[in-house]
Amino acid sequence: MPYEDSEKQLNYMRRWRKAHRVHINNYRTENRQQQNEYQRKYNGEHREQHCEYQQLWRSENPKIQRVYSNISQHPQLYSLDDKCVFCGKIEKLERGHLDYEDEGYNYVTVCHQCNHWMENPIIEAS
Ligand SMILES: [Zn+2]
Repeated sequence: MPYEDSEKQLNYMRRWRKAHRVHINNYRTENRQQQNEYQRKYNGEHREQHCEYQQLWRSENPKIQRVYSNISQHPQLYSLDDKCVFCGKIEKLERGHLDYEDEGYNYVTVCHQCNHWMENPIIEAS
């Protein structure tokens, strides 16, 4: 580890992941099964840490958290179209939010993959 301080180390990794999001998402798509297994194993072994992280995330993003819990409690209020607005896929449809204003009622129906893509910064071709 380049940093002695684990908090510093974590922050560095978070910044790296943010900056390399596109690369990471491509990597994940190619290695999805392996990644999922690894993640599940890791979360199981670091249960406490995982819960702590979730709690931290919730306290830092109360607005998004509220939208998520509204959706899971009242999914009928957040109805989905029959296909992804971007690519037309009909499987794994989700609600794609650009922001979480208005209690999350501003969303489009997107597939799982396009939802990931919506969160990526747009990279201009040079
Ligand atoms: Zn799509």
